[in-house]
Amino acid sequence: MANDAVRLEAVRKEYGELAALDGVSISFPRGGFTAVMGPSGSGKSTFLHCAAGLDRPTAGRVVLDGQDLGGKSETYLTKLRRDRVGFVFQAFNLLPALTVEQNVVLPLQLAGKRPDRRLVARILAHVGLDGRRKHLPGQLSGGQQQRVAIARALVTKPAVLFADEPTGALDTRTAADVLALLRDSVRSSGQTVIMVTHDPVAASYADAVVFLADGRIAGHLARPTAEAVAERMTHLGAWERMA
Ligand code: ADP
Ligand code: MG
Repeated sequence: MANDAVRLEAVRKEYGELAALDGVSISFPRGGFTAVMGPSGSGKSTFLHCAAGLDRPTAGRVVLDGQDLGGKSETYLTKLRRDRVGFVFQAFNLLPALTVEQNVVLPLQLAGKRPDRRLVARILAHVGLDGRRKHLPGQLSGGQQQRVAIARALVTKPAVLFADEPTGALDTRTAADVLALLRDSVRSSGQTVIMVTHDPVAASYADAVVFLADGRIAGHLARPTAEAVAERMTHLGAWERMA
């Protein structure tokens, strides 16, 4: 559908002999919060990188925000990602010498845009970092740093937000905080969030879960509970293959 935020059609990604993605077809409607789960090595990160235009599939088609990424130049993909896409990673990836506020406005500056002070203030308040804008990342807790990373991803008002294990480095309570924040961002702004996780509790914050196994779609779950997700993961043999 034209209204999909992201669509993959028969996407294949090979690393030498290995097919990390082996014919993945799926679409993500706009305004949804979807978790992508699967055993370690099942292709989750590869999937996210292909869907976000950070990596090119060996075969198949990726349509991101209405644009078929096939045949697009690196320059075009860089601009599309900068203008329409946000990223959050497990390791936060903040710049340690910049303050919270400077980290958050960085994507705007890189895009040559003047930061909208009111928007920045609103986003910082939204992530609960109003009083921390002059702090350096090293002066913050892990959860606060991840909230800075989310604020930075939201500041360009991306149509699609990709998150790879965003709560992987956080304790349970802090993770809950960050997940609620991601969920609220979807609800309040109509943004699309696609989050890779291996935590059933994290997945239960999403509207739907997509399971990957051996580079293929291995199932879906709507309105997931942590229990139902954990059961599916057990069925996929995920926990044995986690280590
Ligand atoms: P997941 O995120 O689910 O753990 P990945 O997408 O990282 O899985 O990896 C899927 C498979 O592709 C794994 O077997 C991994 O070793 C392999 N792989 C991923 N990236 C590369 C790469 N750059 N070069 C070679 N093999 C890779
Ligand atoms: Mg991964």
